[in-house]
Amino acid sequence: MGRVSGKVALVTGGASGIGRGCAEVLAAEGAIVVVTDVQVPMGLEVVDGIKAAGGQAVFREQNVTSEDVWRDTIAAVDEQFGRLDILVNNAGIGIGGPITEMTLEDWRKQQAINVEGVFLGTKHALPLMRRGGGGSIINISSLAGLNGAPNLAAYCATKGAVRLFSKAVALECAGLRDGVRVNSVHPGIIETPIWDGISATTAAMGTGANRIDLDAVSAMATPLGVKGFPADIANGVLYLASDESRYVTGTELVIDGGMHAR
Ligand code: NAD
Repeated sequence: MGRVSGKVALVTGGASGIGRGCAEVLAAEGAIVVVTDVQVPMGLEVVDGIKAAGGQAVFREQNVTSEDVWRDTIAAVDEQFGRLDILVNNAGIGIGGPITEMTLEDWRKQQAINVEGVFLGTKHALPLMRRGGGGSIINISSLAGLNGAPNLAAYCATKGAVRLFSKAVALECAGLRDGVRVNSVHPGIIETPIWDGISATTAAMGTGANRIDLDAVSAMATPLGVKGFPADIANGVLYLASDESRYVTGTELVIDGGMHAR
């Protein structure tokens, strides 16, 4: 019996990095996982991997910024499984650079994916979760949602928004006694492809390198001295998704090798 057996989970941005890790861990612990992403071949690969390991998963192409697509996605989950117990709002991007050079277009792109995607997912998942008697919504924020970071102001703004959105919806759901818990997760430096994009737009944080050296940065900036991996975040998400966290809502789970404590 897995820790989330019998539950249906939807993971956005599940084709890569942390989302992929969450999908794999939730499936390994017995959930049926709906993996969604804009990257179709990679998403299908994740589902094939889960099935090969004996888990249950389906893939659905989804851009989290579209309300129509969210409506269709939740309707499809309802039709196929009749319930939704876990939503991991994970899809996100990071575009760095000095604020004087940040274009309004890039600011809005991050707001659309990182913030509006979380709002829309929560809005459209809630009715189906409530119909099933409750559920767990886990929003992937960042350490950049707790602390500032140079050259990442636009990204920090989105992740701070996700943090307080999560707390507000947690209180709304608790007040309704609807059985839905809402929490945010705040990763530190995790080895995923998101750093390719961040590195490109921050010119590797002024080092002149093509990609930020995560090992070197983690050795310097992280009390534990090393970078994290998607499974480190997925294990936290698993706890918040499972009934083990039945008394936990509106909280922020920081998984960052101790960086926030400095
Ligand atoms: P990643 O680039 O590996 O994965 C992000 C996924 O989101 C990709 O598969 C991408 O295709 C998908 N995506 C992007 N735009 C989308 C859209 N409009 N609709 C649907 N899917 C979309 O990056 P990651 O590091 O795994 O990031 C996952 C989450 O974790 C993000 O919200 C990110 O901000 C957050 N995070 C990451 C780190 C880190 O160090 N990697 C740290 C803190 C927070």
